[in-house]
Amino acid sequence: MYATGNPKTKKELKERVARAGRWYCARCGTLSDGPKGGPDGSLIRPPCSREEAPGILCLGTVRYGAPVSVYSPGPFPAPTDGKVTIEGPHFPAPHRWYATATVSGGNIVPGSVR
Ligand SMILES: [Zn+2]
Repeated sequence: MYATGNPKTKKELKERVARAGRWYCARCGTLSDGPKGGPDGSLIRPPCSREEAPGILCLGTVRYGAPVSVYSPGPFPAPTDGKVTIEGPHFPAPHRWYATATVSGGNIVPGSVR
């Protein structure tokens, strides 16, 4: 089974799941909560205001994290609830990582990626 967004590493999958449904800075990775953004991660927030040094702001692009779901390339559909095994990156690249996760309503539950 694959994860949407075709993460290249298990670390990237964990990062994508952690920021799903939250705001994140694409430059420094800072996560924050707030009103929901566009599902495509469209920018409707001011730039990152994290201070990199006293008086110096990061100003990275703040985006909304899209939910990460799983899908199956074969004839059997991916489950929408329960435990799944995920691999990546997507064919034709050779698989380099495997992970297990819990999905609920088709989306990977934050914190469930192992
Ligand atoms: Zn930032």
